[in-house]
Amino acid sequence: MKRVDEIIKIARLKKPDLDEGVIRQAYLKAARAHKGQVRYTGDKYITHPVEVAKILAEWGMGEVTLVAALLHDTVEDTEVTLEELDSEYGADVARLVDGVTKLGKVKLRGSREKMFVENLRKMFVAMAADIRVVMIRLADRLHNMRTLEAVPLRKQKRIAEETLHIYAPLAERLGMGRVKTELEDLAFMYVDAENFEWLMKLAKPHFERAEEAVERAKEEIETRLKEDGVEAEVHGRAKGRYSLFCKLKRPGVERDISKIFDLVALRIITKNKGDCYAALGIVHDRWKPVPSIGVSDFVAQPKPNGYQSIHTKVFDDEGRIMEVQIRTKKMHEQAELGAAAHYAYAEAKSSGVSEERLMGGTAFKIDEKMNWVEQLANWQREVSDSREFVEDMKLDALSHRIYVFSPKGDVYDLPAGATPVDFACLVHGELISYLKGAKVNGRVVPLDHGLQSGDLVEIIKTKNKREVSKDWLEFVKTRKAKDQIGKLVRRML
Ligand code: MN
Repeated sequence: MKRVDEIIKIARLKKPDLDEGVIRQAYLKAARAHKGQVRYTGDKYITHPVEVAKILAEWGMGEVTLVAALLHDTVEDTEVTLEELDSEYGADVARLVDGVTKLGKVKLRGSREKMFVENLRKMFVAMAADIRVVMIRLADRLHNMRTLEAVPLRKQKRIAEETLHIYAPLAERLGMGRVKTELEDLAFMYVDAENFEWLMKLAKPHFERAEEAVERAKEEIETRLKEDGVEAEVHGRAKGRYSLFCKLKRPGVERDISKIFDLVALRIITKNKGDCYAALGIVHDRWKPVPSIGVSDFVAQPKPNGYQSIHTKVFDDEGRIMEVQIRTKKMHEQAELGAAAHYAYAEAKSSGVSEERLMGGTAFKIDEKMNWVEQLANWQREVSDSREFVEDMKLDALSHRIYVFSPKGDVYDLPAGATPVDFACLVHGELISYLKGAKVNGRVVPLDHGLQSGDLVEIIKTKNKREVSKDWLEFVKTRKAKDQIGKLVRRML
């Protein structure tokens, strides 16, 4: 099968009325643009955007996202320009590719890891205005992690660390459990090879035993569900290796794997919510719940990222503790793909695909809106050291701040409406005494120009110190700029 056909085949599973013409066209353009480029794996470069598009198709994303995914590296690495993408594929595709490119420009340099982490987080928060940019970046990272083996050693470690500290928590924040687990497990061995090997050796027999127990329980529960007329799918779910490692490090566990009860959990996926509780009854009728740590009902009380499921711990026939997770098909989709599932749903809804077809017959109400923007804002709030930033985030999740780049790739956050003068003050207080002009995205702009999130701002300097203009006070937005200008103007007088 041709590469592009694979994308279309996967996308059609969730979007039967997909417009494939535009995807074929984008594939041809990307293949032509990347011609002659080769990945570390030895594969043609085009295999990468194709795999990224396949991942996004699995997540249920639509044409615009798939086209942008196919072209996501063209502006950065080939002759293709944003203007070209805009005229050929429309403003949405161009904007997505631009966003993805800019996110990729935030680089880890020297010992400034902490700042880098903050920068990247801020950028993600800013880019969350269009969740598709974040989705493409996540899919891009997922494929790069799947092929990380071929990358030179030094680069490997940096990429894996970034993945563990930024991308996996990001996926978690977006409620994308499956993606988070895969990213963590892929990164684990590169970030901490010693502990990875220790864990794999330690866990192997325990996983094997748990898998056997769950397999036996699965057959039995399937029979009982059928007898009671509850339609459901039952399968085992092995715990992610990295999440297991984190759990083993917790106080009270002390690296004792026999204290972990969900190495392999039994998972029951029902058609509707009522059946979740019916299934819970059937489980408890067969295996006794463990007193005091028994049931957590995240259906009645969802987790902040939207996760819904009933978890119960029961004694299996050998007297070992086994975890059973019960949820509807829709909750399952949400738990695995989070914001992507939500987005795909909303998009399909607006293009008129029936609810029934999309969710395999399960009821899904549009009013259950995922609050991922808020989630990302909270994420920023938790990690940020900047008190000012925290305060602003409290006022309004996103709309009051913009994030701009310096030519070096550093990110600065500013209030909405900030100008190149505010930017200069933030970069370096002294800089405004040499301020001649400014370029935004390569174009010269007036000093009172309103900056936008994602702008690349370059300050044009004079050779010698000049006097600052008190007129600047009319348009600057930050306290820092006002103070600095005020100080210099007073000195002049
Ligand atoms: Mn890429």
